[in-house]
Formats: sequence, structure tokens, C-alpha cells
Amino acid sequence: MVTEFVKNRAPVEVMTVSSFASRSHEVLHFFGTRHGPSYGEPNADLGRVRAAEPDYPFVVSVHQVHGTDALILDGPVRVGEKFTGGWDVIITDQPGILVTVRTADCVPVLLHDPQRETVAVIHAGWRGAVNGIVEKTMSTMQQRFGCRLDGLRVAIGPSAGACCYEVDQQVMDPLRGGYPEWSSVVKMTDHDKWRLDLKKLIRGQALGCGVDENNIQCLDLCTICRPDVFFSYRREGRVSGKMVSGIMLTGKSPST
Ligand SMILES: [Zn+2]
Repeated sequence: MVTEFVKNRAPVEVMTVSSFASRSHEVLHFFGTRHGPSYGEPNADLGRVRAAEPDYPFVVSVHQVHGTDALILDGPVRVGEKFTGGWDVIITDQPGILVTVRTADCVPVLLHDPQRETVAVIHAGWRGAVNGIVEKTMSTMQQRFGCRLDGLRVAIGPSAGACCYEVDQQVMDPLRGGYPEWSSVVKMTDHDKWRLDLKKLIRGQALGCGVDENNIQCLDLCTICRPDVFFSYRREGRVSGKMVSGIMLTGKSPST
């Protein structure tokens, strides 16, 4: 897996997964850092459609509630339109709409079905993951948009890593109940402390849904031990900021 640092027009450094989705696949995507991009930040007007011209005519960010529900955008939106409610997934088949999530240690997950031209973005903390946010999103993509999971491409972004993300019984109990292979994603470090590999959990859930392992890309970067690049709720003890990650169908073939 190759990590590529690119400059966009903002200009800020963002990360892309080079073999995942690119302009050549009629989709733009990025994982943000603490240096940007700035749209969709926590204190911004969440839920209101904005524009970040020229690259992103419509930017959608929503209130995140650590649930598993998806906001589905299957028609055009307009700048200023408001979505009232809370979601941790946005799915769209509409070109030109950048769907975003904000994370500090949780996992941003981007999905792209090149056949059905559908994209999704997921905000997955341990709660969402244990409660099946990955499976639920993929199921919705199948049922609402006719997506085929064996052709789905998945990118798992920077988050709290297995190197640092210590959890206790409060997380372990639901994890044991919700993920049969729980022992493969945790390592006991002390009497009642474990380190959880959230990215591996999400990867395992995607594989369990039938996604081809060659179509899953993971940025193996830890938000907790890279203060130069990432915000971390766990490290900083408060939300001093969040990274914005997003994906958009361009609706243009590479030659146009
Ligand atoms: Zn770490």
C-alpha cells in the first residue's frame, strides 16, 4: 500500500490512497490532517450544504451521533439546504456532492462502487463498529443502489492505532458480543486493559461482507502517536479539532 501526500488547491496536505480511487475512476477522495481541509469542521454549520469551489460544488457534513444510520442522498442538493438530524454515514450516487465525516481517533472509511457509481463515507468509532455500521452501510448500498460488494472498494483512514488505543471492559463486553473474531483484534496489556485494533476490526467486517481483500486499502497511521499530523481526542483529552475526510463522484470521464 502506498501513501501519497498531495497538494490540493486549498492548499493543504491531504492523504489519498493511490490504488483506491482517483480521477481515473471518476472519483475524488481524501483523508484530511490537522492542517486541513477546513470545511466541515466541528463548529461549522453542520448539516447545511456548502460549496468549496472549484473542486467541490456541494459539500455535505452532518451531526455525528455514534450511531449506525445513513443519510442517503439520491437526488440533487442545493447550497444552503439543511439536513436536520444525526448520522454517521452518508451515501450518494449523485456526482458533484462531496460527502464528509470528521474524526479525531475514530476511523474514517470511504467506499466506492465503480459499477453502480455510488460512494459512501463512514465515521466509525468502536461503538459504531461493534454495532455493525460497516455491514449496515454495505447492506444499504446493496438494497438502495444495487451495489455489488465483491466489486466495492474500501479505504480505511488514519485513526487510533493498535499501538496506542487502550480500551477497558466497557468496550470489551460489547466487542465480545458483537464480533465473533474479537480476539484477533485485541491484545491484553494488563489485568483489565486491552489494545484494540479498530482498523483491523473494520477490515475484518468488510471482508466478512464479501469485499475482496485486494479492494481494501488501509492507511496504517495512528492519530495518537502522530501529533504533528493528526488531532487525537485520546491524546489531547479534549476535542481541539477534527480531521475532515471525504469522497465525491466527479461524473466526468478522465478524458474530459
Ligand atoms: Zn500509536
